[in-house]
Amino acid sequence: MTWRIGIDLGGTKTEIAALDPGGAIRLRRRVPTPPGYEATVTQIAAMVAGAEAEIASTATIGIGIPGSENPTTGLIRGANSTCLNGQPLARDLAAAIGRPVRLANDANCLAMSEFHDRPGSGFAVILGTGVGGGLVVEGRLVQGRNRVAGEWGHNPLPWMTADEHPGPACWCGQRGCIESFLCGPALAADADGPGARDASTLPARAAAGDARARAALDRHTDRLARALAALINVVDPEVIVLGGGLSNMAHLYEDLPRLIPRHVFSDVCTTAIEPARHGDSSGVLGAARLWP
Ligand SMILES: [Zn+2]
Repeated sequence: MTWRIGIDLGGTKTEIAALDPGGAIRLRRRVPTPPGYEATVTQIAAMVAGAEAEIASTATIGIGIPGSENPTTGLIRGANSTCLNGQPLARDLAAAIGRPVRLANDANCLAMSEFHDRPGSGFAVILGTGVGGGLVVEGRLVQGRNRVAGEWGHNPLPWMTADEHPGPACWCGQRGCIESFLCGPALAADADGPGARDASTLPARAAAGDARARAALDRHTDRLARALAALINVVDPEVIVLGGGLSNMAHLYEDLPRLIPRHVFSDVCTTAIEPARHGDSSGVLGAARLWP
């Protein structure tokens, strides 16, 4: 039984947590992420050294990152903290810390924090400024041959209507990606026009009778239901957990179970749709759980 350290490397903040051999959080700290790649590596190594001095033990090291690691070259790609892209982060951290580290993206860390202790399969969805996902089967993260397992946000929106086709241009180079319809800025823009980015007030406005807010939320829920139905047709997980900023919208947990079965290729659909249990802690907890 060993201690585990989890690190959540974000664009603005870096968080570290140490879990004792029983899985309880014994230390947790959050500091600003420094600008630049070398400063980031140096700071993470220093945070690990400080944490291990405090717990008086060494630990396994798991790190949640934006983006993912190319499985052949070990170089980071697709990170919105762009100083990480093209860098051999795991190799450099292992050299700085003196032992191997494991990396996974934030959606995979959410999946591990939610499902490491559950039987069967679970899919975790992040609905925020981006849309991503992670798959855990029998407590193990499925990263996939190309390390893109779960990257459902860059499949096209399923069962597009004539109005929706071909969909908005996505930053990834494709059109009509699920992310480009379902991310927070897309929902805000659907309600309030191009340039709007904050969707957080829409549920309250809809409840107060704002028809534009209501219509945008209804379109969003219908599209999310189609996107999740297509996912169920491939993976059929026991449970789908929603995390990220938009997962706070309470109507999703009432409306999705009603809307999803229309498109599932089965005469029964009892897939549970649940909010994430660990909220803000899921990044560090899931990263720590990258080691068994
Ligand atoms: Zn895309």
